Amino acid sequence: MSLMSHKLQAVHASIQAAAAAVSRRPDSVALLAVSKTFGPEMVLEAIAAGQRAFGENYLQEALAKMAAVELALQSGPGAGAGVLLEWHFIGPIQSNKTRAIAEHFDWVHTVDREKIAQRLSQQRPPQLAPLNICLQVNISGEASKSGLAPPEVLDVARAIAELPGLKLRGLMAIPEPTEDQQKQHAAFRQTRELLTQLQSELTKQRPGLQLDTLSMGMSADMVAAIEEGATIVRVGSAIFDRRFGRQGH
Ligand SMILES: *Cc1c(COP(=O)(O)O)cnc(C)c1O
Repeated sequence: MSLMSHKLQAVHASIQAAAAAVSRRPDSVALLAVSKTFGPEMVLEAIAAGQRAFGENYLQEALAKMAAVELALQSGPGAGAGVLLEWHFIGPIQSNKTRAIAEHFDWVHTVDREKIAQRLSQQRPPQLAPLNICLQVNISGEASKSGLAPPEVLDVARAIAELPGLKLRGLMAIPEPTEDQQKQHAAFRQTRELLTQLQSELTKQRPGLQLDTLSMGMSADMVAAIEEGATIVRVGSAIFDRRFGRQGH
């Protein structure tokens, strides 16, 4: 078995253990492999090991990688036939990047302004399914971080739920890094409570709304995130970084 398969299996095992600890079904947590800064050959290794959803932060890097991966899948020995990938944009968004994001991605986790959402909706090609959106929340209130302050979330969510090119799915958070388990839990719990509040407010307005997503938890804090209800964990280094999961040196 490849090193990549080992690392993916280890991450899946941690996800399953964390889900089991709080009596959640293991398949209620999706693994997003964050491939930023890693090349297309690493993405192809992960695909060969069964991974299908990838997260990228930097648009130019992502577009080049996506093209290289598609080409390799199409020209590979029949292996690419029927491989359906899902690409998630998880980096900061500048207005001049929205068109390419709307054209090439399936999900965007980092929407924190209505104006960006309007552009993504207008620029989403009509032949594609609506773009799945998570609103980024600055849950720890860090001055330097992007994301909506929690009291702003409801109004922005109301507006975005009306945009035809988008499908509002839930919230994304990157809490302040800490090794303190209680602090990790508290930030993730607050994010979950905010989603619960959105669900009850917004589904009155739009009964069909599918607000089912909490994108939270990375390599260092995914256990706490899953215990507090994460439905997507965004894991990079534990999958791709050569310093992780090596036997010996
Ligand atoms: C890099 C990144 C991750 C993955 O972080 P790791 O610590 O490598 O697992 C997750 N989410 C976002 C937004 C990132 O930028």
